Amino acid sequence: MTMEEQLHSRLANLGVAEIAAAPADSDAPAGMKYSLSLVVRLSDAVVEGIEGQPTHSYFHHYRTVNAFLDQAVLAAGMLLQQNGWNYLPVGASQSINTPGKYYEGLYSHKKAACRAGLGGMGRSNLFLHRLWGPRVRLGTLFTDCPLPGLELPQCENPCTGCNACVAACPAQALTGNDLPQNDAARELRIDPAACSEHMKRAYQHIGRGAVCGVCMAVCPVGQPAKKPADGILMRCICEDDPDLVCGKIYSARLLKDGWCAVVGENGKEYSYPPELFEEA
Ligand code: SF4
Ligand code: SF4
Repeated sequence: MTMEEQLHSRLANLGVAEIAAAPADSDAPAGMKYSLSLVVRLSDAVVEGIEGQPTHSYFHHYRTVNAFLDQAVLAAGMLLQQNGWNYLPVGASQSINTPGKYYEGLYSHKKAACRAGLGGMGRSNLFLHRLWGPRVRLGTLFTDCPLPGLELPQCENPCTGCNACVAACPAQALTGNDLPQNDAARELRIDPAACSEHMKRAYQHIGRGAVCGVCMAVCPVGQPAKKPADGILMRCICEDDPDLVCGKIYSARLLKDGWCAVVGENGKEYSYPPELFEEA
């Protein structure tokens, strides 16, 4: 097995949802050739419990997933080391506050994941995975082992620009600027101090103000389609309707002759013929 296959197998067995790698950039630690990004999905039930403020369940889940990511990154690093390579783990949730560098870790997990082709940056300043949106947490390690077999093609930024995160932020910390490029300066998207201070002030009773998650919970990207009480879930198989996204699962109401009523991307409900959808 190649090193890439060994990493994939070891991490998939642990429960890591996806891994991908990118050649190291000029901010990478000296001597390292690649960053390896690990994606762990968050519980949809926990995320959906966040309504206007974080929950104790979310704080517990956040800490548990971070601890898991640290362990998974360690397992990947030990595997690399057993095979003669060097590695450097980045803490799953560790701020290194040195002068001029606040609310930042050793290296940005989001930047590593974007460079690896896993997703893009949202107006929420959250990383949006191309399938699961912001409902993920990321781990990163650097290695001197070449990992070209784990590089993915760059994907389109999944952020729709809907501004739901901007409107929902209780700290008015998000700028709402239209910045589809992933490497835009953080301050153009968010006031990190406003976000952090709001959490510390408002949510002391929930994990001493370490989490919020409101902008994550409202983001439509990666939200599982909700089955309506009187309907079904249908997957769009039409590639050329401007109001539908091919492959996306929509909640639908069945009409006569197999037609279904679906709320399209413009927010309006239309009736569509059966050949545009298949049951999800
Ligand atoms: S985590 Fe909370 S306070 Fe911070 S940007 Fe998101 S919604 Fe606003
Ligand atoms: S809520 Fe809308 S604007 Fe904000 S990150 Fe998600 S898709 Fe982008």
